[in-house]
Amino acid sequence: MHRRSFLWTLASAAAFPGLRASTAWRAGLASIDITPPLGLWMGGFAARTEPARGIALPLHAKALALEDAAGRRAVVVTLDLLGLTDRVAERIAAAVGRRYGVPREGLLLCSSHTHSGPVIDDQLAVAYDLSPSQWEDIRASTRRIEGQVLDVVGRALDALAPAHLRRSQGEAGFGANRRVAFEPPGPVDPAVPVLAVERPGGRLAGLLFGYACHNTTLVASFVQYHGDYAGVAQAELERRHPGAIAMFVQGCGADANPKPRGTRELAEQHGRTLADAVERALGGGSDVRGPLRRAFGTVTLPYAQAPGAEDWRRKLEDANVYVRRHAKLMLDDIARDGRTRAAEAVPLHVLALGQSLFIGIGGEVVADYALALKRKYGDATWVAGYVDAVFGYLPSLRVLREGGYEGADAMLYFGRPGPFSEAVEDTVMAGLDGLVARAGALKGRLP
Ligand SMILES: [Zn+2]
Repeated sequence: MHRRSFLWTLASAAAFPGLRASTAWRAGLASIDITPPLGLWMGGFAARTEPARGIALPLHAKALALEDAAGRRAVVVTLDLLGLTDRVAERIAAAVGRRYGVPREGLLLCSSHTHSGPVIDDQLAVAYDLSPSQWEDIRASTRRIEGQVLDVVGRALDALAPAHLRRSQGEAGFGANRRVAFEPPGPVDPAVPVLAVERPGGRLAGLLFGYACHNTTLVASFVQYHGDYAGVAQAELERRHPGAIAMFVQGCGADANPKPRGTRELAEQHGRTLADAVERALGGGSDVRGPLRRAFGTVTLPYAQAPGAEDWRRKLEDANVYVRRHAKLMLDDIARDGRTRAAEAVPLHVLALGQSLFIGIGGEVVADYALALKRKYGDATWVAGYVDAVFGYLPSLRVLREGGYEGADAMLYFGRPGPFSEAVEDTVMAGLDGLVARAGALKGRLP
């Protein structure tokens, strides 16, 4: 190095300590047990015939708070839940903003999509045949969980302390594309992204890790609370790293199922497979430097032209109970608003930790999105689905045109009028491009 520039470097480091500190992070982690009371209806399967009878693996809400050298903060919350509704996500975000000053773009609420947790709010109401008092219990449980999420965010912020972040990536292979009726078979995203949080001195304080596959090893006949494979992987990693908090982020796993599935032993097997993949990834990876950049927005996705009141009234006589319940909901919408729901507001997040890009998308997101975003922004891009609100499935144009459960049919259970219009994929991708630009997330990134 030239002597003069060496001196200048020393002088500037002394005069502007922020320059030296610009790679410094503070991080805080917290975990809270959110297992609800027994007797509550469990979310995710229309075929269930009884409420929760036991606790096979406790459910948790966990939070990772990050703060860069400039004091910008973001909090990633992970939940052993099927998903939140937009109403619940917005209530939590507003309370987090009021109480802790974390802005909307700094809060990501990531659900693992376990089907062995409680029903949340009125999500998938068409799928369940419950009494008013059972719905009252679900509302009370949802409110209780909202309070617990608020607590865990506060505790993670209180725990902010100097930290070193490392990003690595592995792979796992138990997720299989489940749209077997369609040819050619659709893709899966095998990536296991990992963010390790270490304290100065090297102690592992926490792990954020992901995988893209329905968290449905356990099936409708299983009526005990359980975080499924994702819950097992978190518990296993916390057992192997005492004192560390392990947090699972669901990817774009809407069209993938664990293979094989159906028993608690298989959930444990897949969980250990995922934990092993995380362990292998932990050995490598690269340091994550600041700054933290954040952007949040919603895109409006129009629904395709829905049937009119006359058609819905005819469906009230249908042989299928779900079709009848759905038709009743649609007629309620028409009576109240003059029409069924015209569009969906889909939440989108961009979080950049230096050059490490994290994208969060609401809804049950199919693998095509993750793969397209990785082609665009690089293989190491972390793409999470099920973030904030889970309103139904988010199909790619390919899946929408193919139809089937993820393209069209599942919308009935979510109380939506039907499939999205063909603008769906372009609108989401354009929305994310806008957020990446707004966050300045590609600044300084190598092409
Ligand atoms: Zn699902």
